Amino acid sequence: MMPEGVYYRTLKARAEIIEGNINDLLWDLTVYKYALQKCIEALWELDKIPKKSQVHQLFYPMLRDHGFRAHVARNIYSTALALVKSAKENNGSKPVVKKMTARLDYQDAKVDMDSHVVKVILRDKWYTLKIIHKKDFIEKFKGLKWKEVHVKYCNGVLYVSIIFVIRYKPYVPRGAIGLDINLRQITTYDGSNVRRYRTRFIDALSKRARAEELQRKHPRRWRYNKRILSRVRALHRKARNIVLDWCRKSAKYIVLKAKKYGYAIALEDLTNLRENIVEKEGVFVWKLSMFTYRKLQEAIISKTIEHNVPVILVNPRNTSTTCPRCGTKLSYTYRLAICRKCNFKADRDKIGAINIWLRSLYVYAGEHGSTLSAPAVKDEARQSGRIKDEGMKIMIKSVQK
Ligand SMILES: [Zn+2]
Repeated sequence: MMPEGVYYRTLKARAEIIEGNINDLLWDLTVYKYALQKCIEALWELDKIPKKSQVHQLFYPMLRDHGFRAHVARNIYSTALALVKSAKENNGSKPVVKKMTARLDYQDAKVDMDSHVVKVILRDKWYTLKIIHKKDFIEKFKGLKWKEVHVKYCNGVLYVSIIFVIRYKPYVPRGAIGLDINLRQITTYDGSNVRRYRTRFIDALSKRARAEELQRKHPRRWRYNKRILSRVRALHRKARNIVLDWCRKSAKYIVLKAKKYGYAIALEDLTNLRENIVEKEGVFVWKLSMFTYRKLQEAIISKTIEHNVPVILVNPRNTSTTCPRCGTKLSYTYRLAICRKCNFKADRDKIGAINIWLRSLYVYAGEHGSTLSAPAVKDEARQSGRIKDEGMKIMIKSVQK
């Protein structure tokens, strides 16, 4: 189960300076980058990584001399310390700061989400930056608490990132919705009903296939011919946008539905994404699938955090090859399976969704098993009338194990 706690969400956007001089800001960012690298060099030479208080003594006066405000100075040496620590732990080489990015917290930044404006100060001058993004997107962050602002200058463009803090406190679910995801459809099972939602992955795939066809047709030319290149790029972009747009919309739909009924959402834990997709879809589509699955999972998880909906990540092993009724290994004729032992009959997606749902009950059992006695769980389930007995028996069994 995804633990409750603090999660972060970032608003990342282009920014335009509306008060203050851009050249002054760029100079501040340059000095910031230089000072950060200085701290890294000095820390790198030391045999032992010093404690934070020692690091403070080492660098704080120097950074203040460079004109940085107190909190900015702290952020600089903390960042240097973190970079050096992780590089040394991973036996990496000395970190080199390439980007012009400054980290600012509440002392040195002001965020006004009503007028889409951020004010920042690094040394002695305030700058006012306007966030450039779709209004709907910015509005989503309204009312959230922010923690940090990052200002970045890259390839002639100014960017601002605002990191918001979300306290995730999932409610205690009354049941769960199991989600089985494949390229064609999302299949859900809530303990009694199976529902199917067509995806738009296939549309995205066909856009991509057309791009690849063009590349094949003009194997040498497509890279250099402006017209073909822009066509290829547009198709790839469209494929990506279809996926992203669809992921956002369906994540919202599913999460709000779960919230309405007080349910948890159960998903396969896709940490070992690659094997999974190869098993499900075959190797040939795995690249786009990987992107899609990851985006969909991200979209669902970020929505659940926003709405305090509990998420259960279940072990994805054999979800589509185990009979949900008796546990026998299933074999398929195309997408349909009939259990040799108990005659349970269903298609692949349905079996996946049911198994995911069943596994989410194991998680419950793990969470609450120590405090609830088996009969009490059973009564509760009957009263709510939402959880079928079949699943509950399995759950109780696992508590007793
Ligand atoms: Zn069976």
